[in-house]
Amino acid sequence: MLDADFFRRWMTVTAASVDREAERLTALDSPIGDADHGSNLHRGFTAVTAALEKEAPGTPGGVLTLAGRQLISTVGGASGPLYGTLLRRTGKALGDAAEVSAEQLAEALRAGVDAVMTLGGAAPGDKTMIDALVPAVDALGDSFAAARTAAEEGAVATTPLQARKGRASYLGERSIGHQDPGATSAALLVAGLAEAAGE
Ligand code: ADP
Ligand code: MG
Repeated sequence: MLDADFFRRWMTVTAASVDREAERLTALDSPIGDADHGSNLHRGFTAVTAALEKEAPGTPGGVLTLAGRQLISTVGGASGPLYGTLLRRTGKALGDAAEVSAEQLAEALRAGVDAVMTLGGAAPGDKTMIDALVPAVDALGDSFAAARTAAEEGAVATTPLQARKGRASYLGERSIGHQDPGATSAALLVAGLAEAAGE
């Protein structure tokens, strides 16, 4: 079973990897965006870890809703409300249980990803974070490690796509040939889950 500590660890290891990869995320956002994705998420996850230390929610749902709220209020870009919605909706689906199973988490994350698609209007293949998140949720039934691999493959597979949502879509065909920054950071988030689980 997964308790609040596990979810705190998930957020903390993700914050650390966002810190390590911030420059790369911003570099990916440079040719097909406005070169702020790394700094946006760095600001957001720094606020997440600070808030979790201060408030220390006692349930998985509490950890994720607090984290989502922080992302919405501190990340300037489009990715803030989208990641914030992902975590808040997932947290809400977990309710106030003190521990949840991996199956419950997979189901809750599915609801979270659906909420991101509703909010942003993106579908798989539009060259967004959805292209990493949907395969990850599909693979979560197998293992956290399988979800990580699926997210990483999904991020890489955005390279030949033409963007149909977000800032990159303004470039039309010129968005082809670049890996999507948001799909890349989504793969970090999923990798954080595997790391928190010790996989
Ligand atoms: P901004 O585009 O406002 O500068 P960021 O650079 O932080 O925001 O985030 C860009 C990322 O957000 C993109 O790479 C993409 O993955 C994701 N994104 C943008 N719009 C959408 C959308 N409508 N649905 C899903 N993801 C989106
Ligand atoms: Mg940007």
